[in-house]
Amino acid sequence: MDSLILDSITFQIDTGQLYKNLRIKEGSELMARLNSLVDKAQAIGKPKAFYKAVFIESRADDHVIVDGVMLTSRVLRINLKKAHRVFPFVATCGVELEEWSRSITDMLEKYWADVIKEMALRIAIKNLNEQLIEHFQPGKISRMNPGSLPDWPLPEQQKLFALLGKGPGSIGVELTDSFLMTPIKSVSGIWFPTEESFESCRLCQRELCPGRRAPYDADLYDRKYRRE
Ligand code: SF4
Repeated sequence: MDSLILDSITFQIDTGQLYKNLRIKEGSELMARLNSLVDKAQAIGKPKAFYKAVFIESRADDHVIVDGVMLTSRVLRINLKKAHRVFPFVATCGVELEEWSRSITDMLEKYWADVIKEMALRIAIKNLNEQLIEHFQPGKISRMNPGSLPDWPLPEQQKLFALLGKGPGSIGVELTDSFLMTPIKSVSGIWFPTEESFESCRLCQRELCPGRRAPYDADLYDRKYRRE
């Protein structure tokens, strides 16, 4: 097996977390409205993921060639210094939730549906991560996503999708002309084995980012990635 589709992921929303994220009071009228939305979402939602295992063929100063595809990023190149095999992937909230959310007209409920789709995407990523670790036992892994840093810009999505072949299409994910994905709540990237964990946020100066997973480290680029 060098590729796998995960299309029967259990979709169970953590309602306690959802109330907390949306600041909904238990027992309130808003909670009843939200619960009804959650019920509908859970009835139709099918978060999905796809990944494959591929080998690194060669490396240069600012790129690696993986399974015949050149990925241009100095940061990725350095992060893959000791890796031989990597795992390109795509995960999504699924077309079912995407279509359902488009039919919602109430602005508040539309926002709630967006948060629910985000949770579905997180569930897909978590399942993919667990499955990959169980199956390939790669040791510690980290991930990079095209577009998260100027060093690996969004147009590189095209190459990543070339690497993934028919996988994204098989779970309903498409790449638009502007290199974004549909459904919008989808994530693509590469998992790679590394002893030293990597987080793009440590190289990203964007302030007040709600998705920040680690603090900005002003010296990290010079320390680890700058050409000598
Ligand atoms: S800080 Fe925000 S924008 Fe920057 S890499 Fe992290 S999640 Fe992405």
